[in-house]
Amino acid sequence: MSKQKTCKVCFAVSECFPYVKTGGLGDVAGSLPKALTEEGCEVRIFLPLYGGIKVIDHGISRYEEVAGAEINIGGNVHSFGLWHSKLPGSEADVYFVDCPHYFHRDHPYTNDPDEDERFIFFQIAIMESLQRMNWAPDVIHCNDWQTALIPAMIKTSYSWDRMFDKTATLLSIHNIGYQGMFSSESVAKAGLPVEYYAPYMPFEHNGTFCFMKAGIVYSEIVSAVSPTYAHEIQTSELGAGLEGVLQTRSNDIYGVLNGIDENIWNPKHDAFIPHKYSAAQLKGKEKNRAALLEEAELPAMADSALIGIVSRFAPQKGFELLPPVINEIMQLPVQFVVLGSGDSQTEDFFKGLKSSYPGRVNVYIGYNNKLSHYITAGSDMFLMPSHYEPCGLNQMYSLRYGTVPIVRKTGGLADTVRDYHEYDQKGNGFSFNDYTPQALYSTVARALDIFRDKKVWKKIQKRGMKEDFSWKHSADMYIELYNKAIQKRS
Ligand code: ADP
Repeated sequence: MSKQKTCKVCFAVSECFPYVKTGGLGDVAGSLPKALTEEGCEVRIFLPLYGGIKVIDHGISRYEEVAGAEINIGGNVHSFGLWHSKLPGSEADVYFVDCPHYFHRDHPYTNDPDEDERFIFFQIAIMESLQRMNWAPDVIHCNDWQTALIPAMIKTSYSWDRMFDKTATLLSIHNIGYQGMFSSESVAKAGLPVEYYAPYMPFEHNGTFCFMKAGIVYSEIVSAVSPTYAHEIQTSELGAGLEGVLQTRSNDIYGVLNGIDENIWNPKHDAFIPHKYSAAQLKGKEKNRAALLEEAELPAMADSALIGIVSRFAPQKGFELLPPVINEIMQLPVQFVVLGSGDSQTEDFFKGLKSSYPGRVNVYIGYNNKLSHYITAGSDMFLMPSHYEPCGLNQMYSLRYGTVPIVRKTGGLADTVRDYHEYDQKGNGFSFNDYTPQALYSTVARALDIFRDKKVWKKIQKRGMKEDFSWKHSADMYIELYNKAIQKRS
């Protein structure tokens, strides 16, 4: 498929499983590079060395060739060094940018006043490291706003360095809702030409310096994490104000669906679930269900469906649709196990639900990787009523685990979940179009209706479990896009 399989790829990213993960971006960074190396690419991942990353546990050691380099950001001079490890189970190299001043905080992302500096520092450190390594990648794959200034750096502040003459850039948009918007002073801090901060110029967006806009303007290729999302971000409904800029690049925007890491998310050998199972042998799933009910201290209720939720609680996830219809939903034969954290309104709603319906609902507020696997394996259905969902991984995990997804038809959810209809026998889940509580309610009710017919249900489960969400296909598509980007740069 791809013409040039031996791309040298610098993968710049702000989170990467298993070192640090706050959402789907971490999963992608932990698995796409693995698939790219399997396809013959040489991949070097760059990641901040956050205080929470345990270097000993992960076998990370100092990379002596780059140490003590200094970066001046608006008069604040800090030095950095690199640490190194191999991405587990892969040939991809991971280089960690070590600067405790910027990266030893309680969370990878903060609202601290120097948030701009933190990720400007990270991006300049990547450029400086590439120079010191004397390694000119064919392509720098940037991900979201935290690394979206690199394409501009290549073409302006680092254009003097002939080493990068042929280095192309690709920006992947994992979520247009987070854009990295800062004050105009940040342009100079980033060492970028301040004259490009003006209306209709690359750095200015609604009176702010917008990292994401700069990335969209300067990268050779822009990708979004699903075909539907690639289209949606160019509309006023879901472009979050950047739709106009994206429309000017519409010929260079592609959608590539994320894959799932089969080594981690596979019920045949998932280390976090007590009973392994497969499409051919679904008995194990029943046992996980019973174990999950016990763990969640919920009684087994005959003919009741167990609905799982694992999510960040953010407005995009659509949980605001639940309160208006929750009492009607609870009239139906359902139980809920919920794991998530985020905005306090959603947390409070679920906590209230647990106390209003003892024995029917359990709620875990927080982040718990093991429990997320457990819920995915032990639930009958998985609910994602998202307002928007760039790709969404949980519905793919659910499909793989025979846990039938109920989703709103948006972004990657629209690309992966096919609504069940009796007449065509193609559905692998349930979905609804209208972003309304009523549409959510009737879809849950419809799923519960079908759930009673165990024979039909099993077919839906098995259809989902057989979907191919491996990374190989997506990695091939990225390699094709890298080649397009390289061609545009030459
Ligand atoms: P997003 O990136 O918008 O959060 P995705 O569906 O792309 O959504 O990816 C979410 C990832 O984060 C999944 O791997 C999911 O299991 C995980 N996740 C989300 N919330 C939690 C949580 N509270 N505990 C454990 N894992 C979580």
